[in-house]
Amino acid sequence: LASKSDTHQRTLVKLSPSVSVGGEDLLIVGGPCTVESLEQMEQVATHLSNAPVQALRGGVYKPRTSPYAFQGLGLEGLQILKSIRQHHHIPVVTEVMSIGQIEDVVTHADMLQVGSRNMQNFDLLKALGEVDKPVLLKRGLSATVEEFVMAAEYILSHGNPHVVLCERGIRSFDTYTRNVLDLGAVVALKQITHLPVIVDPSHAAGKRELVADLARASIACGADGLIIECHPEPEKSVSDARQALSLEEMVALVHSLQPIATAV
Ligand code: PEP
Ligand code: MN
Repeated sequence: LASKSDTHQRTLVKLSPSVSVGGEDLLIVGGPCTVESLEQMEQVATHLSNAPVQALRGGVYKPRTSPYAFQGLGLEGLQILKSIRQHHHIPVVTEVMSIGQIEDVVTHADMLQVGSRNMQNFDLLKALGEVDKPVLLKRGLSATVEEFVMAAEYILSHGNPHVVLCERGIRSFDTYTRNVLDLGAVVALKQITHLPVIVDPSHAAGKRELVADLARASIACGADGLIIECHPEPEKSVSDARQALSLEEMVALVHSLQPIATAV
């Protein structure tokens, strides 16, 4: 179902009546790794909605490596996202980690993120196949392109055609960058599937000073959009502080993308 055939048009995935991905316009999603407070998300929304950024991100269920690290605000965070999307008329994207969270996340978010650590959680993927909201599927930490496409296939084959693929870097021997951004996979996915493909340069880089150039390279090789972590006070982020851009850096980055998109 994910494969591209000669006759198949590219799939356009709609986040809201006016925001979509996979067509002419880039989808830029910005926001913090973790939703920390209403004030934080208000600052993000106010700053980014004119950037223009088309959607906001913010995790409320966080897949942290350590069980002792902050696990996210949960339902309280979903309420914050709900009020932000109502006041600012902007779609929001947030991660769903388990089947039990789907109902609440569907009610409050416009696109449901499956994190890398859950890319092959097949029961979760099947359940998301029954949802009437777009799913942002992130590539697994060490997943092959084939495994990635097959994970998308689980969602598609269970009835949900609104799947967006996200390359976010894969593990290698080199720890200088957090992960290795696989732009070859972005090109390949665009060739072999009809699904929108976006890139997360933040989790690939792991260092804020690498994010902007990787973002521009992603657009240059045909990505349909980006998801980027940014924060009103990056150093104070409760998670992934080292890779967060300031809101000013995010706006400047967004402004540098359109000429590249037009050229490709
Ligand atoms: C995230 O988006 O904050 C995240 C945890 O991403 P990934 O699943 O790609 O590590
Ligand atoms: Mn993060």
